[in-house]
Amino acid sequence: MARNLIAQVDLAAIVHNYRVAKAQAQHSKAVAIIKADAYGHGAVAVATALDSEVDAFGVAAIEEALELREAGIQRPILLLEGFFEASELPLIHQHRFWSSLHSLEQLAVLEAYLQRYPDVHGLHIWLKIDSGMHRLGVNPVHIPEMLKRLQALKGVESIVVMSHFACADEPHRPDTLRQLEVLGASLQGLDIPRSFSNSAGVMHWPSAHHQWLRPGIMLYGASPFAEAHPVADQLKPGMTLSTEIIAIREVPAGDAVGYGASWTATTPTRIATLAVGYADGYSRHAPSGTPVWLNGRRAAIAGRVSMDMITIDLTGHDDAVVRDKVELWGANLSVNEIAACCNTIPYTLLSGLTRRVKRHYI
Ligand SMILES: *Cc1c(COP(=O)(O)O)cnc(C)c1O
Repeated sequence: MARNLIAQVDLAAIVHNYRVAKAQAQHSKAVAIIKADAYGHGAVAVATALDSEVDAFGVAAIEEALELREAGIQRPILLLEGFFEASELPLIHQHRFWSSLHSLEQLAVLEAYLQRYPDVHGLHIWLKIDSGMHRLGVNPVHIPEMLKRLQALKGVESIVVMSHFACADEPHRPDTLRQLEVLGASLQGLDIPRSFSNSAGVMHWPSAHHQWLRPGIMLYGASPFAEAHPVADQLKPGMTLSTEIIAIREVPAGDAVGYGASWTATTPTRIATLAVGYADGYSRHAPSGTPVWLNGRRAAIAGRVSMDMITIDLTGHDDAVVRDKVELWGANLSVNEIAACCNTIPYTLLSGLTRRVKRHYI
């Protein structure tokens, strides 16, 4: 094989992580969130691995859902952003997709469609409520009216109310409890299944569990929290990204390495060049000092990340040779740690991997 940059995806680890999610709330069902190509892990492969045990899958939009149906996935699939235009409704019906409904405009489109096609039935609607994040969802004051209108539609078979947290990944902030209060008050007395919890909600906020969980990032073995968390300790990394050394050179003291000459050798230093760069999705914001894993211990990036390559300092790695394998994140280096070095979150690193990275499944 030519360029040996490989994202090895551990499907058994993802299944294990799904079970960890379910174990937090034994009486809840779960929508396994596999949007954005399962956060870069490959949606079809992940869905196939989880298919026999999940209650449903969740994706952002219908394009992603159709890809799963075409691959033979038969489970319910929830469209987290619902439909964008009326022309999607026949497909939603035909493929038995579940749709979020987050605005009065969408409700009007749905009503018009069902009026025109009175034989359509069996639709599953997740009414999304804006409980304080102010991104998507209906203002709680509209809930009674919207529920009444939805319940009057013969085509609608079931309704779930959903909401999303802005700060559930920050356990010490009061915002999540405030959102839960808004939801509790707005839904008081209503006997309708509820879904509020992303991974952070699943892992840390039992009062948010209710009937349906929506774990995403935790399925891939990354933590939504910046700090250590006991549930995060039970997760297994879903991906190990690795490449190999393609060149080694000796850089004299005082010479600099890479674009912008941003890193300078203070003593004569062996530098290895690795086949991975920002065009693969490795963050250009990874500074000098960001760890990689080489021959059972750490080494550090030296110099800027370029499009196809990075350079590392081989100090303490006298045994390293061209073609040695180097892990960028995964089994030995958590993607959370690498994300922190890059001043970003594991979500962006995982979902940002490009087509050029080969996926291998174990
Ligand atoms: C992406 C998403 C999730 C999953 O979030 P994680 O933080 O990855 O667990 C859950 N619900 C909605 C509405 C989402 O958009």
